[in-house]
Amino acid sequence: ESQLNSNYSFDNFLEGDSNRLARSAGLAVSNKPGGTSFNPLLIFGGVGLGKTHLAHAIGVEIKDLYPEKTVLYISAEVFTQQYVDSVRKQTRNDFIYFYQLIDVLIVDDIQFLSGKSGTQDVFFHIFNHLHQNGKQVILTSDKAPVDMQDIEQRLLSRFKWGLSAEIQNPDVDTRIEILKGILYRDGVSMPEEIIEYVAQNVKTNVRELEGAIISLIAQSSFNKREITLELAKQVVDKFVKNVKKEITIDYIQKVVSDYFQMDTETLCSKTRKRHIVQARQLAMFFAKKYTKASLANIGSEIGNRDHATVLHACKTIDNLIETDKQFRKYHDDINKKFSI
Ligand code: ADP
Ligand code: MG
Repeated sequence: ESQLNSNYSFDNFLEGDSNRLARSAGLAVSNKPGGTSFNPLLIFGGVGLGKTHLAHAIGVEIKDLYPEKTVLYISAEVFTQQYVDSVRKQTRNDFIYFYQLIDVLIVDDIQFLSGKSGTQDVFFHIFNHLHQNGKQVILTSDKAPVDMQDIEQRLLSRFKWGLSAEIQNPDVDTRIEILKGILYRDGVSMPEEIIEYVAQNVKTNVRELEGAIISLIAQSSFNKREITLELAKQVVDKFVKNVKKEITIDYIQKVVSDYFQMDTETLCSKTRKRHIVQARQLAMFFAKKYTKASLANIGSEIGNRDHATVLHACKTIDNLIETDKQFRKYHDDINKKFSI
């Protein structure tokens, strides 16, 4: 079982400036698995931008061109579960042996390995074996290797051996093309101005773009309403708002700590180091702004502080935004990630 999803192909992976490098590196690897300098090929980028799609497309294409090769797609999470099971059942060697026989190994979301030293260790050995034998490794991650935390140095340095290709958020023209691709796939036609409206207003990522257009199509067919610009506005506005509501305190902590390149434990720690205190205060500030949580709740989730501390944090940040230009830049950068 290769676990490949043949619905994800190169044909339906639309190309734009945001993914051109990753896509063409993927094609190069598909044509000559193990035979290019892109080994490993690491595809990284934010959520919903097409990493999993592209990873499958590469596997599917290789299987097409080289049916005799064993190609395996696996998420790092499932890989980790399998490894943990193998330790429990004392079949760790079988586990390693199984992976060493694969010609093309695709591991999705390797950031999931962070902090899991046992799994990292076993993956390191499998990786080395495959690489030494000219087998192809393809990895995806939500961040660049330099920004990965709690991954062993020796593994990180392996990740950098080949090519790291970023997928970025597509620009509006590419979003229009992607929407047209989805409509074509689903056999739905829609006026150009509506497609443009959706593309201009759903900016977060491709997954949400897809979600918005699908919900628009569903609205029109359930209610037997023609797809008008007015309906599009209703559906898209509601969609964008709903997405916004999903901002949680956890998510805020993650975004802020990623931005300052610290882990969330550090963000929440008792330290009085100024830059950490300010990062924490900023997280509290955003939690107040973007969630419905009470000050007490925010305090208890972000480092177990009381509501007065959160209130003080919010005032401090208001003040810093006004008086400190550099700090305002931090605020604005991070704020962009929450506002659509
Ligand atoms: P990620 O793994 O980066 O979170 P996915 O690969 O799951 O993102 O992509 C999210 C959705 O967007 C999928 O349905 C995928 O098919 C679609 N998608 C992403 N990029 C493209 C693209 N360039 N062309 C067509 N569909 C895309
Ligand atoms: Mg994915």
